[in-house]
This record gives sequence, structure tokens and C-alpha cells, in this order.
Amino acid sequence: MAAATTHLLSPSAPLRSPSTKKPIRKPIPLIITARKLRAAVIGGGPAGASAAEALALGGIETYMIERSPSGAKPCGGAIPLCMLDEFSLPESLIDRRVTRMRIISPSNLSADFGTALLPGQHIPMLRREVLDSFLRSRAESHGVHLLPGLFTSLTPPSSPHDPYLIHYIASSDPNSLLGKPQTLAADVIIGADGANSRVAKSIDAGSYSYAIAFQERIRLPDAQMQHYADLAEMYIGEDVSPDFYAWVFPKCDHVAVGTGTVSSKQQIKKYQMGIRRRAKPKIEGGEVIKVEAHPIPEHPRPRRVVGRVALVGDAAGYVTKCSGEGIYFAAKSGRMCGEAVVRASEGGERMVSEEELKAGYLRRWDREYGVMFRFLDVLQRVFYGSNWGREALVELCGDEYVQKRTFESYLYKRMVMGDWMGDLRLGWRTFESLGRNMIVGRELQRLKNVLASLE
Ligand SMILES: Cc1cc2nc3c(=O)[nH]c(=O)nc-3n(C[C@H](O)[C@H](O)[C@H](O)COP(=O)(O)OP(=O)(O)OC[C@H]3O[C@@H](n4cnc5c(N)ncnc54)[C@H](O)[C@@H]3O)c2cc1C
Repeated sequence: MAAATTHLLSPSAPLRSPSTKKPIRKPIPLIITARKLRAAVIGGGPAGASAAEALALGGIETYMIERSPSGAKPCGGAIPLCMLDEFSLPESLIDRRVTRMRIISPSNLSADFGTALLPGQHIPMLRREVLDSFLRSRAESHGVHLLPGLFTSLTPPSSPHDPYLIHYIASSDPNSLLGKPQTLAADVIIGADGANSRVAKSIDAGSYSYAIAFQERIRLPDAQMQHYADLAEMYIGEDVSPDFYAWVFPKCDHVAVGTGTVSSKQQIKKYQMGIRRRAKPKIEGGEVIKVEAHPIPEHPRPRRVVGRVALVGDAAGYVTKCSGEGIYFAAKSGRMCGEAVVRASEGGERMVSEEELKAGYLRRWDREYGVMFRFLDVLQRVFYGSNWGREALVELCGDEYVQKRTFESYLYKRMVMGDWMGDLRLGWRTFESLGRNMIVGRELQRLKNVLASLE
């Protein structure tokens, strides 16, 4: 049992009877002498809901604190196909099935990913408000106690057997400080509170560099929406982002049009105008129904497990470079961490240690995804840093072998080994394409400079 120890819960802790889930009226002060492990998950996005679900399924008393249970995270909403099966997501959550991913270069050269797709393969597109509320409800149905409220701070335990005290403001109003201050005692904490994680700050997890992403949801007339029935677009170029890509992703009755940047955050609105200009013929006349912006982490935090607190999802920094993808990695890391707690605590029967969390979650995570994250980082540096790199990227994306490998890796989240002849040919094409576009790019720049000096 976790508690050969004695825990004193704050008088204001929201105590609930596990069987009825109804608040117990007179809890002051409650001393628990022998009890099972209790976990708290901060944040109820894909990372938090998946972590909480795994904990509850493993028999652990689990609380999930979410500041905005009916809110919507700003997001493109593209997920890999394998997520549907792995997380048993019903088809009804999907707005669109994208079978053509078009990438468009600075000179408007385009390549359609999709020719290598097998029947039934597609990129599911959904709205985050739909996905998140589904995942949260399912976690609740497995016994997770959802506490609407804003996490504010953490009091560390005074011994390895004592619980942490979680301070939060109980309210369903996002960011409101007007609710009731509450305290919850928990033995293990999973910080799934996104890119601006307060849990990460509380444990001094260290910071990361981040991109800022800006997105407008634009409702299009039916005829224009038809163009995006099964098509998503990625635009690259200095005009839309100096170091990332801009996108038009289809949703049920609207498109999400956005862009991101790490190096020029103050200029984000200029880049948003850039993507609007590039996509103008297709989105003109649409009605902007929502404008949203949010940070995207660029790499994992220096410390992701401290004591009995673990970070997952964006709070940990699990978004891939190049594609800016984080939904699947959030859900996956949440589940992996939750399962590690279940295993280490033997279903909540004993206390867990920092070392057990590191071995069962952190090292396993790095083994499984470390190489993929580093590989995509290199690709982003090579192809997104200059217009000649971008032109080369689009040229390469026209290649069927590239498409097959990219789609396999994206849809099923595994690094696909190709055949050596194909890889050799691809290596040569990459080299040749980068070199040629660099020379053409330099010559064009030289010509521009000469013309400018004549004016
Ligand atoms: C504009 C944009 C477009 C994107 N497009 C895509 C895409 O198409 N595909 C993709 O895979 N990824 C995309 N991403 C990345 C993706 O959105 C994130 O990686 C993903 O949401 C991470 O999930 P999470 O659960 O870790 O964090 P979040 O989704 O950020 O969830 C954190 C949760 O914690 C809650 N919370 C935060 N602070 C507190 C607090 N103090 N107390 C209580 N609750 C709190 C929040 O309300 C939220 O519900 C995009 C990101 C942006 C910004």
C-alpha cells in the first residue's frame, strides 16, 4: 500500500466518494491512514485525458484538473491514421479524410502527396473541441474525477512518502481567478497543461524555445469548400514563414488557415497576410469565424520528470519539427506515462519513485521517438531555411518513392527503412536538387541586386 503513511488533506480539498462521485459534505480535517496511491493530472487535452484514462484503467484513483472543459485548443486538427485504431477513436469524430496533401513552393511549384496512398489510407482532420471532449468524457467514464479549475501552484512533499499539495481555483471559467481556492493532495502528478505549463514552472523543469502559431478559421461558400473536400495545402516561402510552413486545412464547414514561426514572432501577422495572399483565389469571400494563436514547443524540456511529477505532451515539449505535429505525441506520451505509474505502483498499491518514472516513461519515450524527432529537426533546418531549400523540397516531394516513405512514416509513426537502391537514388536526387536550386537562387538574387542598383 502507498500509505504506510498518514496524509492530512486540506479542509477545502474536494473529497468525493469513489462509488457515487458525489462530494462528501463534512471533510474537515480528514486523515487517511491506509490508502491506495492517488494521482492528479493537470490539463485535460489529448495528453491529460489519455494519461488520466490509463491511470484509471489501471485501478488508480485519478483526478484531472482542467481549466476550460468546454474550450477549444487552437490547432490544425490533422492526426495520423494510426491514432484512430490506437486510441479507439470513432469515425464520427472525423470532419474530413484528406487524400491529397499539396505542398506549394515559393515559386508556386506544387506537388501532390497522395499518389502513393493505398485504398482507405488518408489523413483524418478533426476539430479539437470535438476530440478533446470525447477523450475527457471517456476518461470520466472509466472513473476519472474531472475537476474544472485553474491549477496555480504546487507544495512539494516533506518526505518521500508524503503527498504533494496541488493548489487550484475551482471554476469552469477559463483563467478566472474568481473561483474558489482549493487544495488536493496527490502522490503522483502528471503535468499535461500544454505549452505554457505551470506544472513545468513549479518543478523548475527548464524552458524551451517555441514557435508561435496563428490561425484563422474561415467559413467558405459550398462551391469553394468543395475544392478542399479531400485536399489540404501546405505553403512554404519567406512570405508565409521564415522557418516553418503555412497551411489551409479543411474542417467540417470551414478551413483553418494559419502559419507559424520561431524566429520572427513579432511578424506573425505579416506572415498570416502572406498565406492569405497565396491562397486568395480559393478562400476569397470567406467569413472569418475565429482567430486563434498559441505557442508550439520546439524541443523537449531539460527536465521532464522531477520527483513524482512527470510532464507529458506539449508541457514536455513533444512536437515534431518540420510538421509541427503534437496531438498524437501528446496522447501517446500521456498514455505511456500513465501506464508507467500503474506498473511501478502495482496498480496503486505502493508509492512510486522518480527513478521508476524515468525508467518506465522517460527512457522508453526517448528510445521510441528520439531518433524520429532528431531526424525531423534536421529536415526542417535543411529545407525550411531558404527559398532554394524550399524549392528543392517541393521537387523531391513529387517523387513517388519519397511520398511512399513520408506517408508511411507519418500515417503509422514509424521510421520506415527503404531499399538501399531507392535510398541511394534519393540521396543523389536530394543533393542534386539542393545544389541546383541553390545556384539558381543565388543567380536570381544577384540579378535582383543588379536590377535594384540600376533603379
Ligand atoms: C495553431 C496550431 C495548429 C496546430 N496544428 C496541429 C495539427 O494539425 N496536428 C497536430 O498533431 N498538432 C498540431 N498542433 C500542435 C497540437 O495542438 C499540440 O501539440 C497538442 O494540442 C498538445 O496536446 P496537450 O494535451 O499536450 O496540450 P493542450 O492541447 O495544449 O492541452 C492542455 C490542456 O491543459 C489545460 N490547462 C492549461 N493550463 C492549465 C492550468 N493552469 N490549469 C488547468 N488546466 C490547464 C488547457 O485548457 C488544455 O485543455 C498545432 C498547434 C497550434 C498552436
